Amino acid sequence: MLGFHVLTLFPEMVMQGLHTSILGRAVGKQCISIEAVNIRDYTTDKHGKVDDYTYGGGAGMLMQAQPVYDAYLSVARKLEGNPRVIYVTPQGKTFHQEMAKELAKEEELIFLCGHYEGVDERVLEEIVTDYVSIGDYVLTGGELPAMVMIDAIARLVPGVLHNDESATTESFHNDLLEYPQYSRPEVWRDKRVPEILLSGNHAKVDEWRLEQSIERTKRLRPDLYEKWAGRNVTGVSKGVKHQGVKQQN
Ligand code: SAM
Repeated sequence: MLGFHVLTLFPEMVMQGLHTSILGRAVGKQCISIEAVNIRDYTTDKHGKVDDYTYGGGAGMLMQAQPVYDAYLSVARKLEGNPRVIYVTPQGKTFHQEMAKELAKEEELIFLCGHYEGVDERVLEEIVTDYVSIGDYVLTGGELPAMVMIDAIARLVPGVLHNDESATTESFHNDLLEYPQYSRPEVWRDKRVPEILLSGNHAKVDEWRLEQSIERTKRLRPDLYEKWAGRNVTGVSKGVKHQGVKQQN
C-alpha cells in the first residue's frame, strides 16, 4: 500500500484526474490511497490569501511559506517516520522510469505543487527532500506534473496492474522500448498481422518481440540502445538476440 498526499491549490483537479480507470480501481482495491490537501485551507490570512509579491521586485506572485508549511504539517503529523517530500519543479532532476521504480517502494509520498511564480524558498528548504521535474518546459502549476509522476509510480505498486507481466514487458524495462503489438482483425487496410504472432510458437514469438524491441530502440532511442547494448555486450557481438535479456533488471 502506498499513500500519496498532494499539497495543492487545486485539489479537485488532482482528485478527478487520479480517480479514474486503473488508478481509481487501485484505490478501491486499497493498493494505493490518494489525498489532496488544499493549501488554501491552512492560510492564516483572513481573506484566504496564499500568495504575495516577491521581495526585490519582478513579475508575478509567489506562494507564501506559512500556508504551505501548515498544510505539510497537517499531513506529516499523521504519518509515521519522515516521508519524502517531492517538490515538482522545472528546476529538479528529470523524472524517469528508474525513479518511478524507486519511489514505488516507499510507503508514503508527499507531493508539493507550486503555482504562480513558485514557492517561497524558505519553506522549500524546510520540508523538501526531492526536487523533480517532468521536462525542460514551464507549466502554470505543479498539478499535472504531480499527476504524471503519481500515475507512473502507482502502476509499479504490486496489485495495481492486473498481472505482473504488464510492467515488465513495457517500454524502459531493461532499457528497451516495447515491441509493436496487434489486435483483431488479422488484416486491416491490406496490412497483415506478422505471421509469427499467429503461429502459436511462444518461444519464436518471444524471440521476434525481442528483436523488434532492440531494432525499435536502436532506431527511435539510440541513447537508450547504447545503455542496453553496454549491458549486453556478449549477446550483441555474438549475434545472440534473446539470451537472458528478459530476466535482467
Ligand atoms: N518561476 C519558476 C521557474 O522559473 O523555475 C516556474 C514556476 S511555474 C510557472 C509554477 C509551478 O509549476 C512550479 O512551482 C512547479 O510546481 C510547476 N511546474 C512548472 N513546470 C514544471 C515542470 N516542468 N516540472 C515540474 N513542475 C513544474
